[in-house]
Amino acid sequence: MQKISLIIPCYNEEEALPTFYKEVDRVSTLLEKYEFEMLFIDDGSKDKTLEVIKGFAETDNRVKYLSFSRNFGKEGAMYAGFCNATGDYVAVMDADMQDPPSLLPEMLKIIEEQGYDSVATRRVTRKGEPKIRSFFARMFYKIMAKISDVDVVDGARDFRLMKRKMVNAIVAMSETNRFSKGIFGWIGFKTYWLEYENVERVAGQTKWSFWKLFKYSLEGITNFSDAPLKIASFSGIFLTFVAVVALLVVFIRALCFGDNVAGWPSTICIILFVGGVQLFCLGVMGQYISKIFRETKKRPIYIIGESNKEDVK
Ligand code: UDP
Ligand code: MG
Repeated sequence: MQKISLIIPCYNEEEALPTFYKEVDRVSTLLEKYEFEMLFIDDGSKDKTLEVIKGFAETDNRVKYLSFSRNFGKEGAMYAGFCNATGDYVAVMDADMQDPPSLLPEMLKIIEEQGYDSVATRRVTRKGEPKIRSFFARMFYKIMAKISDVDVVDGARDFRLMKRKMVNAIVAMSETNRFSKGIFGWIGFKTYWLEYENVERVAGQTKWSFWKLFKYSLEGITNFSDAPLKIASFSGIFLTFVAVVALLVVFIRALCFGDNVAGWPSTICIILFVGGVQLFCLGVMGQYISKIFRETKKRPIYIIGESNKEDVK
């Protein structure tokens, strides 16, 4: 019997979890020829999320949980899920019903009948999301498509159903700086893109503020592209060239027409401009250095506080 593992990262999801659990339970009855495993990852929730999950586990032995010692973020939660899932098929799923469990049968069918290794989902609409957030999200995907060599699809969600071999590849990518959408693209494999309309979360609040998303997008860019480093060095070369030309012009003009002190405000402007560009380039370098720093420390990506699974990794 083949097994499906669902990885569900949860951070303060006490309100949404009962609806989610009921829906997965309903869907699992439609997929009788598979064994199910629900792996809830409690990412250091401050509300009753863990109690709610333990409640499910009491009556349902398909429910497993890992509870982190503190909040490590969704990326850490997903990685813990991948490391501990035992299924032949593994899916990552949000607890808030924005990744509809009812899509699972269709996704399984595509993998089994059409020979794909994974089925990924993308939202074709962003209904119910603030306009400004949608605008910046679109811009991020456009930039990412231009400057990195992995394909990160616009509107792609983390919701995916994958075969075991793909999960093994993800587990092998144990980097500290994680950006899953990039990792999924980087490892390759044949992926089918399933499109669906955006669904709003059933209960609770989104955990992503605009600032958090902005930082996450920078993470995506600097993890999968070195274009910012190239921009920094090219702007350096360009400015040096401009400076040399300008110097020649000033020198020749002084020889022909003599020197006068007019023009110092423009000099100040140039100094400020060049200083700004230099600081910007240093900042870009700093971003990459801080990544190397974090990566070399090889700290664990998550720490488990408690679990009802034997042999947790
Ligand atoms: N999540 C998590 N750790 C965090 C933030 C979020 O495990 O630090 C989980 C959250 O519980 C949810 C999923 O990641 O199941 C997606 O979060 P959310 O719905 O807030 O994001 P959005 O759908 O608004 O992008
Ligand atoms: Mg959500």
